[in-house]
Amino acid sequence: MGSLLSVALYRKYRPATFTEVVGQEHVTEPLSNALAAGRINHAYLFSGPRGCGKTSSARILARSLNCTQGPTPTPCGVCESCVALAPNGPGSIDVIELDAASHGGVDDTRELRDRAFYAPAQSRYRVFIIDEAHMVTTAGFNALLKIVEEPPEHLIFVFATTEPEKVLPTIRSRTHHYPFRLLPPRTMRALVERICEHEGVVIDDAVYPLVIRAGGGSPRDTLSVLDQLLAGADGDRVSYQRALGLLGATDIALIDEAVEALAADDAAALFGAVESVIDAGHDPRRFATDLLERFRDLLVLQAVPDAAARGVVDAPEDVLERMRDQAARLGRATLTRYAEVVQTGLGEMRGATAPRLLLEVVCARLLLPSASDSESALLQRIERIETRLDMSIPGSAKAPPSRSGESSGEPGPAKRTKGAQPRGNPARAQTPTPAATAGEPDAAAVRTMWPTVRDKVRQRSRTTEVMLAGATVRAVEGNTLVLSHESAPLAKRLCEQRNADVIAEALKDALGVDWRVRCETTHPAPADADPDQRVDEDSMLSETGRDDSSATRRDPEEVALELLRNELGARRIEHDQPR
Ligand SMILES: [Zn+2]
Repeated sequence: MGSLLSVALYRKYRPATFTEVVGQEHVTEPLSNALAAGRINHAYLFSGPRGCGKTSSARILARSLNCTQGPTPTPCGVCESCVALAPNGPGSIDVIELDAASHGGVDDTRELRDRAFYAPAQSRYRVFIIDEAHMVTTAGFNALLKIVEEPPEHLIFVFATTEPEKVLPTIRSRTHHYPFRLLPPRTMRALVERICEHEGVVIDDAVYPLVIRAGGGSPRDTLSVLDQLLAGADGDRVSYQRALGLLGATDIALIDEAVEALAADDAAALFGAVESVIDAGHDPRRFATDLLERFRDLLVLQAVPDAAARGVVDAPEDVLERMRDQAARLGRATLTRYAEVVQTGLGEMRGATAPRLLLEVVCARLLLPSASDSESALLQRIERIETRLDMSIPGSAKAPPSRSGESSGEPGPAKRTKGAQPRGNPARAQTPTPAATAGEPDAAAVRTMWPTVRDKVRQRSRTTEVMLAGATVRAVEGNTLVLSHESAPLAKRLCEQRNADVIAEALKDALGVDWRVRCETTHPAPADADPDQRVDEDSMLSETGRDDSSATRRDPEEVALELLRNELGARRIEHDQPR
C-alpha cells in the first residue's frame, strides 16, 4: 500500500475537469455553460474557504480555455495544452500562478502587468491565476487596474481568495464572482467512500463522521485526515478505535453517557462520564467540543426530522437512533442553553491550566437551570412545567412529553416571564412564606426558600451544591431538615459531616434557623412503571424540590399550575377550552 499512498490523496484525486469537482455544482455548472456558449470574461473571482477547490478550479478553467478543441467545458485531455495542464502535469508557460501571499507587492504586480501584454506563446489565452488575492497590496492592485479594466483580447485573470471583500472594489467589479463553499457531510461522505473503495481500504462505518468532522467541510483537509488514517491503518482496515486515537476524538459512548445523564438530571452519572473521559486520556476541551457538536446535532434533529436523510447530521444508524431518542427527551430551550453553557465554558477553557476542573464546573452549570436567570434558563423551566402539565392534565396524559419547539417558540409565555421574579433573587427571599407566622419554618417554607438555600450552599461549596441537584426537601422533624435524594450514594455523601455542615450553615444564613441536616434515599419507583414516565416523574420530583413550591407528594397538576401562577403569572384555562 505504501506506493499507493506515496502521493497525497488530495493530489492523486485532484479533478481534471469541472464535472469532476465535487460539491461545487452551483459554480461549476454556470462556468461550464459559459464555456460551452463561448461567453468568456477577462477576469474571474473565485472566493470561498480554504481547501474547497478554488485553485484546482482555476487550473481547470485555464485547461478548458486553452484546449485545442476549446474553449470547452470538456477539455479533450490529449492535446498538448491539456496534457501540460493535467492535474499532475508539468504546466504551461501561458498559465502563470502567482501566490499573492509572498508576491503581492507593487513590484510583483507591475512585473506581472508587463508580462501580461505579451501574446501567449503556444495557447489561445494567457491565464494569470492569482492565489490569496486578498494579500495583494492596494498599490499592487492599482498597478493591475488598467489592464484588468482594458485587458488585451488574449488575457484572462483568475483571482482566488478566502476574503473577496479585501479585493480592491474597482478590480472586483470587473470580475465574474464565483463563491465556492464547504461541502455538506453527505457530499463529503460520498467522496470519501469513493476514494476508499478506489484505494481498496475498508473503514468502519463510525469512522466516516469522525473524518468528515475533522476535515471541517474542506475536501483538502478531509483527504489529508484520511491520508493520515490510511497511513496508520492495520492492513487495509481502519477501525473506529484506531481512528479515535489518531484523531483525538471523544468516544461516542462517552458523549451518549453524558447526554443521557443530563436527560435524567443525574449528577452522579454526568460526573462519572467526566471521570471516564479523563481516564481514557481524552482532552477535556475536546470532549466539550464534541459535546457541543452533539447538542447542535440534537437541535438540528428536532428542527429537521429528516436531517439524517438530508445529510445535515451524519452518524451511524445506531447512534442516530439514540440521538433521535435524546432529541425527543430534551427540549429545544434546554439544548440551546446547554450549548450556550458549553460554548462559554470552551472559551474559559482556552489556555486554562486546569481544563478538567473547568469541565466539571461546566457540567455543574448544565445541571443547574436555576443557577442562571438568563432567558434560556427561564425557557428551560417553562418547558419542564409544560411537560408536567402534559403529564397531569386529564386527557393529555398519554401524549408524548412535548418539551420542544412549538411551546418554547411561542412568544407569549416567554414574554410573560419577563416580569417574573428570577429565582434566587433576594427580593424573592423576602416574600412572606406560609410558615412565617408559626415561628420556625416548615417544610413548605423551606421548599419556597430552597433556591436561596442552594445559592448559599453554592457560595460555600460548589460540590455540595451539585450533589443537591437531585435532592428534595422531604420534611422538617424538630430541628432536623430531612432531604431525600434519588441516588443512595449521593444521599449518603450529603449526610457526611462536611456536606451537612455546609447545608446547615446555608440554612442558617437563608432562614435564620439552627438545624441539623439528614438525607435519605428517595423511594424507588415501582418496577412495573413505564420507564419514560418514571424518568419524567423523577425529574419532576427533583424539579419540585428546586422550584419554589409544593410538597413532593402533591398532585403534579396542582404543582405545575402553582408554578405557572407564581413564576409566570399564568391564569388557568378551563379544560374544555382548546389549549
Ligand atoms: Zn485538449
